[in-house]
Amino acid sequence: MGTSPSAPDRILVNGHILCVDPQFQVVEAVAIRGDRILATGPSSEIRALAGPDTTIEDLGGAGVLPGLIDAHNHLLSTGQVLQQVTLYDCRSIPEILDRVADRARTIRPGTWIIGRGWDESLLAEGRHPTRWELDRAAPDHPVVLHRVWNKLVANSAALAAAGITRETPDPPSDQRYSGSFERDPSTGEPTGLFRDRAKDLILNAIPAPTADELVAAVAAACRAYNAVGLVGVAEPGLDDDGIAAFRTLREQGELTVRTLMLLGAWGYVPAEREADLKSWIADVRSRPDEADDLLRIDGVKFMLDGGIGDRTARMDVPYMDEPDNVGQWVVDPEEYPHLVRWVHDLGYSIDTHTCGIAAQDLAVRAYSSALEAAPNERIHHRVHHAYFPSADAIALMARHRIPALVSNPFLVHLGESFVASVGSDRAARAMPMASYLRAGVPLAGTSDSPIADFNPFVGMYAAVARRTVVGRDLAPAERISRADALRSYTIWAAAATSDAATRGSIEPGKLADLIVVDRDPLTVSDEELRDTQVLRTMVGGRWVWERTG
Ligand SMILES: [Zn+2]
Repeated sequence: MGTSPSAPDRILVNGHILCVDPQFQVVEAVAIRGDRILATGPSSEIRALAGPDTTIEDLGGAGVLPGLIDAHNHLLSTGQVLQQVTLYDCRSIPEILDRVADRARTIRPGTWIIGRGWDESLLAEGRHPTRWELDRAAPDHPVVLHRVWNKLVANSAALAAAGITRETPDPPSDQRYSGSFERDPSTGEPTGLFRDRAKDLILNAIPAPTADELVAAVAAACRAYNAVGLVGVAEPGLDDDGIAAFRTLREQGELTVRTLMLLGAWGYVPAEREADLKSWIADVRSRPDEADDLLRIDGVKFMLDGGIGDRTARMDVPYMDEPDNVGQWVVDPEEYPHLVRWVHDLGYSIDTHTCGIAAQDLAVRAYSSALEAAPNERIHHRVHHAYFPSADAIALMARHRIPALVSNPFLVHLGESFVASVGSDRAARAMPMASYLRAGVPLAGTSDSPIADFNPFVGMYAAVARRTVVGRDLAPAERISRADALRSYTIWAAAATSDAATRGSIEPGKLADLIVVDRDPLTVSDEELRDTQVLRTMVGGRWVWERTG
């Protein structure tokens, strides 16, 4: 028997392989050559393709899915958060303080302690921790604890490092989204709470990470992502240092999550950087991208409005009990369509953060105008969060194939804060996935990690259950099927970034990205779906992660 030049390098047999191809086939076996899938079919047929050097692996009946893709995931920040104090599951202020005190005991005094994930709507006290409480937990360390989104609380050492005192003037109220910091009403002393862009007053005092630390953060995130089956993300919001970190890790052969990089731009970067954004983006566009199947620059990220939970998303009607508050624009709504057109004409795709109905309308109209005036098949503008589409927005999104990148796990973890902000009726209709699909709007699942859990099975659970952490059901009619939830983290996520020809399903010719799981996500209960365990993860024909023990 001679060696066949076309024989597979590896064959997986005796599996329950969900291909997520157009026929939604289930097959037993897959053959892989190099980084590509060569063939799929019955075990006997695929075995017959083996040459003398082919490795044959018996899956023992295990489930196999395409590698999972998150269409909006801040991988670099998540890698940094993995090294910080996580507070997402805290339900009281003493729990938060315990975790800060634990960290303080393990690092030398003066070192910054950064934490993330508190949400006052889930805390027994119903409020944020204060500067003085954090002082008691860690008197000798500067402490900054990010809320799940858009606010932070700092202790006295952090305020001192940032030079913030009761004499510090309030941020200029005539500047868009300049934010504020809270003061004790009787003394004028800052309480430690900062919101919107006023957070930068504190964040600018934290020592910037070194290039090596950034590379280490990307590497840590890759390992954590592979362990939950993630093999691809779109990374919305990098600067030159972030891009360099991804490229370094790729050169080291350690980048195991395919990454589409978006340039952090209007609304997303500190206000003082906005004046130079056009020249920076044009400059990046003019340089060779060094793109391959692992890494490429895909587009530009805008943040057009704020969030629902903290009542800054731009709505059409006021927030509950705040008749004068319809939310905020983070980017000038007059200027935004011109910026969209400018980026579109450069040939970059756009991901715009839109949480409020008015923001989503504006983004969809701006995209539609650009796509009508200058059609470009390779560009895929998309709206992120996409909570509250108007009927017009849905029609335009369907007509121009503008994907809704829904942040599914927010329904679980932030759903209660939505109810508090916009009332239970409206909150229940957030992210109307079934309506999007019925109208023909492309849909993709995202976590927006580190805002929510990056585990895609948590996102699939959110899409099929639509149930908050306290068990409240949000518009059951907007639940989607198991198969569609799986598509939204595989083939539809690939399609949202024009990558469906090479990724997102197990089909001959596509990249060999797949995962072995411990259950069938189509038939288990909702909760079991959420708890699905990944056993092995393959990227480009190479096993990059395996569960041990
Ligand atoms: Zn984001």
